[in-house]
Amino acid sequence: MADKPFPQQAPDAAAGQKSAAAGDMPADEFRHYGHRLVDWAATYLGSMERFPVLSRVQPGEIRRRLPAAAPEDPEPMEEILADLESIVVPGLTHWNHPAFFSYFSITGSGPGILGELLSAAFNVNGMLWKTSPAATELEETVVDWLRQWLGLPSEFWGIIYDTASTSTFHALAAAREAVPGTNCREEGLADGPRLRLYASEQAHSSVEKAAIGLGLGLKGVRKIPVDDAFRLRPDALEAAIEEDLAGGWRPFSVVATVGTTSTTSVDPVPAIADICRRYGLWLHVDAAYAGPVALLPEMRWVLEGCGRADSLVTNPHKWLFTPIDASVLFCRKPEVLRRAFSLVPDYLRTSEPATNFMDYGIQLGRRFRALKLWMVMRYFGRRGVAARLREHLRLATEFAGWIDEHPDFQRSAPTPFSTVCFRACPRRLGWEGGSGHTDLPNQPDWGAGPSPEERLDRLNQELLDRVNATGEVFLSSTRLHGRLVLRLAVGNLKTTERHVRRAWDLLRRELEAMLSEP
Ligand code: PLP
Repeated sequence: MADKPFPQQAPDAAAGQKSAAAGDMPADEFRHYGHRLVDWAATYLGSMERFPVLSRVQPGEIRRRLPAAAPEDPEPMEEILADLESIVVPGLTHWNHPAFFSYFSITGSGPGILGELLSAAFNVNGMLWKTSPAATELEETVVDWLRQWLGLPSEFWGIIYDTASTSTFHALAAAREAVPGTNCREEGLADGPRLRLYASEQAHSSVEKAAIGLGLGLKGVRKIPVDDAFRLRPDALEAAIEEDLAGGWRPFSVVATVGTTSTTSVDPVPAIADICRRYGLWLHVDAAYAGPVALLPEMRWVLEGCGRADSLVTNPHKWLFTPIDASVLFCRKPEVLRRAFSLVPDYLRTSEPATNFMDYGIQLGRRFRALKLWMVMRYFGRRGVAARLREHLRLATEFAGWIDEHPDFQRSAPTPFSTVCFRACPRRLGWEGGSGHTDLPNQPDWGAGPSPEERLDRLNQELLDRVNATGEVFLSSTRLHGRLVLRLAVGNLKTTERHVRRAWDLLRRELEAMLSEP
């Protein structure tokens, strides 16, 4: 960042007065501050490493620095920008930072950011075709481009929602609508069968949230055990369905995940699709994170069997360089989705033979999200995206290799994509690190107090906290088999080998420091 991120160019002297008069910010003032903010954003994006990745503010700190009520009178842009610098920026966790390795590392991109800017400038509401034909038709076009990139069948129709949670909610609403002999849309659930859906123990919580929202309740979701690579077990799925049928439940859907949140495991979709066909169940695939990687010919296998799904979600805002938010739901039966949600009041009736996306979801107003995705896909092209995804896969493989070779660390799950699950298990404390274990090694004798596993969890938590406290990197954690596991996810456009190596150096340095402390 430049020394003066908002350089003091001569602002329009009359700007404050103009703002107080009727109308919007005058065009010359908009241009002036627009240029400055684009400059600022370019500098920010280019010199992010001067910030700690994870914000260091305490809870409530930002709030305390902000006035409790909005201003009565116009405020000068200079003051607003100064507060942005001094109050807002310190409270940011920098998701676009090249050493952001947490959760799923996601990244905006130049073309995506500019697409957002234009989308705000247009401020169109794409609820109906005629409320902005370009918004609808660009959306139809880019989701079909994406479908082709991922090698999905041409029968897959697509729509953009905000998040995968929303996409999955809509997919499961369609699945509920498709249950023969029920009329949930009119009658609700009260007198209908007890519906149940199935997902692995590793499925994202959005599946359960959808069940809450759809009136199925948490009991409407049955969690299926996974194998030792954290993949849904088809035999257990079938047994659960049989048991539920015998117990009076009405199975109606299965959610398979391609790239689970904790470990990025890939459920065996072909076998699950067979079961869905046998029992007449709606198959929804959650490929929110891993879906885009299928555009690499060598990774096409990840979506094997997904062409037989009824619906599939993938998030351009996760691993396709599109600023949050943008989630694409593909659906083989859009007419069912429409049946579930279309409700057209008189004031929204239209006669054009065109898609009105408001008919396919809970929301009426719709942002022009297709614009940023269009810009991202065109700017990078399939080859450009592929090259970047390949590099992320390479970096993660390299990191996984370092873990495997080190006696004090252990990998906790296979690494099919760019996310590595691992933990420290120092040999000098009696643990055994090294190559690719996914089970807990033999337990050393720790004497009284917390169990050895609990102590190892604490050690890993402290290691994570110490590494993140450096501000240089930000890693996250999860639990597998009840045990704490660290995660390093590569997904940022600016991440290079240097950043991954630094994370590895910090992990070893901090572990060494902890072990040498009394
Ligand atoms: N599905 C999977 C596999 C995820 O990992 C996530 C989030 O990380 C989601 C769904 C939810 O995504 P969103 O934040 O877009 O709702």
